[in-house]
Amino acid sequence: MQIRLDKYLADMGVGTRSQVKQYIRKKQVLVNGSLPEGPNQKVELTDRVSFQGQEISWQKHEYFLFYKPAGCISAVRDNCHKTVLDYFPENRRKDLFPVGRLDIDTEGLLLITNDGALSHNLLAPKKHVPKTYVARVLGRVTEEDVQKFAQGMEIGEKNPTRPARLKILEWEGEASLVELTITEGKFHQVKRMFEAVEKKVLYLKRIAMGELKLDETLQPGEYRKLTEEELEKLR
Ligand code: URA
Repeated sequence: MQIRLDKYLADMGVGTRSQVKQYIRKKQVLVNGSLPEGPNQKVELTDRVSFQGQEISWQKHEYFLFYKPAGCISAVRDNCHKTVLDYFPENRRKDLFPVGRLDIDTEGLLLITNDGALSHNLLAPKKHVPKTYVARVLGRVTEEDVQKFAQGMEIGEKNPTRPARLKILEWEGEASLVELTITEGKFHQVKRMFEAVEKKVLYLKRIAMGELKLDETLQPGEYRKLTEEELEKLR
């Protein structure tokens, strides 16, 4: 497949279409080691394209493990709030989006990609992809609560929740630190499940989605590319 050189570079996140046209005119771009004729030169996706001496290989899809901080929304653009994509550089690919949503006050693992098929697979209700959270909740979580979560509970939906695994990590005075794994993705599901046992979520962090685990070496707001191994496990 052939595409225009300026589109190739813009799609790979080198810059906006007008920025990359400038780079090409300023002779900062080579195709197979030679200066291209201009921004509209056609290139094969297998050609060796370089920008400022760095090879820019064609990748159809990109995958990032993002540590979402609290205070931003899981959207690609918004007029009022910071979005998860505001943590990515200006010249990022323009087709990235978050896979699923976390509430504005929830932090933790969010996969950012432009692979619609993978996203669809991970979010398909029938796939029951497990999602694990650590939560601090107001109130003492009891073994009875653990049983209720395991059995499935009414949270005002057509059906009760699917069995969920709740683990009490520790009690901290009036609050409890817990780990919860659910296999659905209903709106505010974790908060609503705790409300159903008369407890309030004070803090919520997602630590895993399917086989993908939050990389604790990342700080909130940071991201890194998925490794080949992580990607294989998600497919
Ligand atoms: N459940 C919630 O209540 N909030 C989230 O952000 C994720 C799961």
